Amino acid sequence: MTQGLTVLGATGSIGASTLDVLARHPGRFRVFALTAHRSADALLALCLRHAPRYAVLSGLQEDAGLRRRFAESGCRSELLFGAQALERVASDADCDVLMAAIVGAAGLAPALAGACAGKRILLANKEALVMAGPFFMRAVRECGARLLPVDSEHNAVFQCLPQEAAQSSGRASMKAVRRILLTASGGPFRAAPLERLGSVTPDEACAHPNWAMGRKISVDSATMMNKGLEVIEARWLFDVAPERIEVLIHAQSIIHSLVEFIDGSVIAQLSNPDMRVPIAHALGFPERIESGAVPLDLAAIGTLTFERPDPQRFPCLGLAYAALREGGTAPAVLNAANEVAVAAFLDGKLRYTAIPQVIEHALRSAPATAADCLETVLEADRRARVAASNGVAALMGRAA
Ligand code: NDP
Repeated sequence: MTQGLTVLGATGSIGASTLDVLARHPGRFRVFALTAHRSADALLALCLRHAPRYAVLSGLQEDAGLRRRFAESGCRSELLFGAQALERVASDADCDVLMAAIVGAAGLAPALAGACAGKRILLANKEALVMAGPFFMRAVRECGARLLPVDSEHNAVFQCLPQEAAQSSGRASMKAVRRILLTASGGPFRAAPLERLGSVTPDEACAHPNWAMGRKISVDSATMMNKGLEVIEARWLFDVAPERIEVLIHAQSIIHSLVEFIDGSVIAQLSNPDMRVPIAHALGFPERIESGAVPLDLAAIGTLTFERPDPQRFPCLGLAYAALREGGTAPAVLNAANEVAVAAFLDGKLRYTAIPQVIEHALRSAPATAADCLETVLEADRRARVAASNGVAALMGRAA
């Protein structure tokens, strides 16, 4: 039977890769809903191609003109406006599979709605687990949802784990696992002189050596906050203590992560750096389906290298470990402050090297409380954004 698929964040980079894999498997899925924030034209083009039942523009209010434009273009999808519609299409009875690929904190509520409705969730939006790990995982377990990681590192770990651990919806039996090793490319500034980092531009930060991604996650990869967020994601997804999760720089991005077992065996997952690989894995699981990725040619690559991350070059990684150890709402504060700082950097308002300063300021100004429900986490997110915006303003004033 074909499964109904909702793609949250369909106009983004993960959304595009998902729809690319889908197009290689006609008849396997029926597109139930596609969502965008404000990119109406891009959403319309996707609707004409994939004919979903619903199309959502979550960042826009009711707009009769747009509704008419969609209809006159031959689009038969029902157009919904506003953030509430995301939760509706994530939890609808006709949605079987949910690709959670919205960027940032905005992805949490709809992904959680999908978890509470017992959906099969393909999770790209790592921020959901960073902000709300414990109760998100509880919702997955208690509501019978199925969580399949799409982030390439977590998907790799998932593939390396014993089947019985991987089959238990994220509640892995981790007794045999000594360590999880998350690999990181080190981004575009891995080897740049430290004194150059104060003057790097947004375009330089977004020019990732191996992956083509959205701009926010590209900056996160450069600062290695992305890896910090992934450490937190792994902690909840695989139910493993922070000290058993390590980060290893592997510049070629061929090994996507490794699992070390208590007998000394280390299992790794390899592929060319192409998000269609983990997406196809999650879409097809437990079957393997074709992804469109170019096959790996290790002889052509020749050398795989590894190094430890330099804490001076990548202070955001240390901030993420600290927030994870502090617990409660600290990871949500870290995430929100990072979003504010990265947006200010991308807008040309903040130096690249000031990103960790803004996050530290927010972590100090918005002390952690218990994170026991969506409201507390969203409140911490709001407070952190105010603190981080003040931090950005103070640093801009100093620079002027
Ligand atoms: P993009 O920036 O390319 O796309 C983001 C998508 O989310 C777009 O569809 C966008 O709509 C929508 N969106 C943006 N803001 C909001 C909002 N406030 N409310 C609702 N929808 C919104 O992001 P990526 O595809 O790169 O990343 C998506 C997620 O996947 C992130 O959490 C990222 O960390 C994770 N991820 C991405 C990887 C990658 O290779 N790109 C790899 C691993 C994980 P619109 O077009 O209208 O703005």
